[in-house]
Amino acid sequence: MNDPDLERLDAADPLRECRARFHLPPGLIYLDGNSLGPLPVATPGRMSGLIEREWGEGLIRSWNAARWVDAPRRVGDKIGRLIGAQPGETLACDSTSVNLFKLLAMALQLRPGRKVILSERRNFPTDLYVAEGLAALLGAGHELRSVEPEKIVEGLDDQVAVLMLSHVNFSTGAMFDLAALTRAAHAAGALVLWDLAHSAGAVPLTLSADDADFAVGCGYKYLNGGPGAPAFLYINQRLQAAVRTPITGWFGHVRPFAFETSYAPAPGIEQAQAGTPPILGLAALECGVDELLRVPMTALREKSLRLSELLLSRVETELAGAGFEIITPRDPAQRGSQVCLRHAKAWPICQALIAQGVIGDFRAPDILRFGFAPMYLRYADVARAVAILGELMRTGGWDRPQFHQRATVT
Ligand SMILES: *Cc1c(COP(=O)(O)O)cnc(C)c1O
Repeated sequence: MNDPDLERLDAADPLRECRARFHLPPGLIYLDGNSLGPLPVATPGRMSGLIEREWGEGLIRSWNAARWVDAPRRVGDKIGRLIGAQPGETLACDSTSVNLFKLLAMALQLRPGRKVILSERRNFPTDLYVAEGLAALLGAGHELRSVEPEKIVEGLDDQVAVLMLSHVNFSTGAMFDLAALTRAAHAAGALVLWDLAHSAGAVPLTLSADDADFAVGCGYKYLNGGPGAPAFLYINQRLQAAVRTPITGWFGHVRPFAFETSYAPAPGIEQAQAGTPPILGLAALECGVDELLRVPMTALREKSLRLSELLLSRVETELAGAGFEIITPRDPAQRGSQVCLRHAKAWPICQALIAQGVIGDFRAPDILRFGFAPMYLRYADVARAVAILGELMRTGGWDRPQFHQRATVT
């Protein structure tokens, strides 16, 4: 299975030394960093220092002495560097779902005469659910309008308050043109809210230069912040004085420790905080983000595209006739950092691959998804993953009874 050309490519890879910075179980090929990033080697030391010294010894004094109180903004600004935001535009807080709720509500307030949240039908379900729930809660006639991806621009009529899209689609890997759709939304008088769950830390982003209004994203995917890590939100500087968070908690108050009886928003991005920040989660997230800040995003993108191209071309040659349909765009400009294959037996095939040490994931009803995190993934790994998949298909090794059982989390 060795491929000398690929081994040479790995040996010459400018990112080859990053791999040692992650804890990766030996023998495993991890193609799921888009779902849960692996553990950075630096994280356990940072966590035990935080727990034993800052919490254990410092106790409540650490809110000031260890600058716990600054963590949402500090980690937010580091994420801001990855997404092309200005300092003060990004905050690490809450979950992606909760951040979507807050920012969507802000966007709707800014367009009081318009009642439509425009999105696409294949957006990640939580995004659509949150929009539905918010529209119902507001009770003011708002509606979620979900269209086919190619109908978005024509859907931007004068009723649309906000265009809410995932930059990279979770189940196809297709990537929208963020700058062009932001311009189209603005030309139609609408705001944009981008979900960067599958692009932050994976593709270069220039949110401020593109004049995006709002964005959210996940901490536990490409940012390697650990299971359930805090998420982030971005609010364009030019909107910050005009927006009002719907969750008016004390940490978003201009003077939280004055304990005043009524609410007054903090002036900047801090307004978007609700309650006490999760310090343990933020520390782990910061370790993950620090790893990404060591390398230029352009180098990550270049390698990511070579890795996905390698997988696509090997699937075409080695898996021809095995029933796979490539649903990720072949054009690199329209592709995020994952490749998705449709197959009628995707679930048992995915389980059989995992049993062979190749971890990708399954997305209902029939999609196999492989994510590429270039800091630790090698070209040889990708080729070996396809070879193992080919072998499973040829031998029927995927079709064992244990691979057909469904788990709770897929
Ligand atoms: C992973 C993902 C989420 C997850 O939201 P949580 O609140 O963290 O569970 C949201 N949106 C998109 C597009 C995602 O890919």
